[in-house]
Amino acid sequence: MSEKIHWGEMTRVELKKLAEKTDTVLLPVGSTEQHGPHLPVDTDTFDAKYILEKACELLPDPKPPILPVIPYGVSGHHMGFDGTITLRDKTLHDIVVDIGRSVWVHGFKKMIIYNAHGGNTAVLRTAANTLKKDPGLRVFMDSGQSMEKGKKELVKSVNDVHAGEYETSTSLANRKELVDIDSIEKPELTFPHPSFEFNAEAPYFFNWNTDELTSTGVIGDPTVSNEEKGDELWERGIKTLSKRIKIILKL
Ligand SMILES: [Zn+2]
Repeated sequence: MSEKIHWGEMTRVELKKLAEKTDTVLLPVGSTEQHGPHLPVDTDTFDAKYILEKACELLPDPKPPILPVIPYGVSGHHMGFDGTITLRDKTLHDIVVDIGRSVWVHGFKKMIIYNAHGGNTAVLRTAANTLKKDPGLRVFMDSGQSMEKGKKELVKSVNDVHAGEYETSTSLANRKELVDIDSIEKPELTFPHPSFEFNAEAPYFFNWNTDELTSTGVIGDPTVSNEEKGDELWERGIKTLSKRIKIILKL
C-alpha cells in the first residue's frame, strides 16, 4: 500500500510522474565524523535520513521524494579525532548545487534540506543562495530547528552540542545497538573564557577545534542521556518537521 518515498528506489518513469504531482524534493545532509568514544561516526547521516523518513510518514500523498543522503560534511574541526572524514567547503557547496540543478531539470522547483550537522550550515546557506540565482530553485533548510523546542525543554546539561545528553539520547532511541554504553563519560570542557561557552548569553563565534575544547570528543554530558528522552525528542521534532514541510509544499 505504502508509496515509495526514496528517490533512489523509484524508476525514471515513476519520478517523471511524481514531478507532475509535486514540485518539491527532500535532501538529507549528514557527516562522517567522530562522535566521542560511544556513538557511531555516521550518527548525523543516519539521523538526517531518519527524521525525513519519519516526517514523510505524516505527510499526505503525493509525498515529496527523499534524495539519497549526502553522507559527508564539513568536519575539519573534528579532524583531531579518529574516524572523521571532511569535505572542503567548496566540495559540499558544489555537490548541493549540482543536485539542485539536476532536480530542477527534471521539473522540481523547491528543495528542502534537512541538515544534521552544524558544521555544514554556513556552506549550505551559500549553496542555497547560489541555487536562487541559477537556476532559481527555492531552497528551505532545517538545521535542527525542528528539534530545538524539545531540546530546550528536555535537555538540561549545559554546552550540549556534540555527542552529549541530546545526541546520545536520540541515538539510544533510534539505534541503541550501536551505542557503546560502557564508554559513556562526562568530559572536562575548556573554553578560552566563560563568555565563549555555547550556553553563555549571546556567545561570540570563534573558530574552535573540538580537541581544543574536550579531551574525549564529546561536548556536553552523555551520562544524563536516556532512551525515553530520545523518544520524546524525536516525536516532537518529527511532528514539527512534518508540519513545516506541509507549509512549504503549499508555498
Ligand atoms: Zn552529530
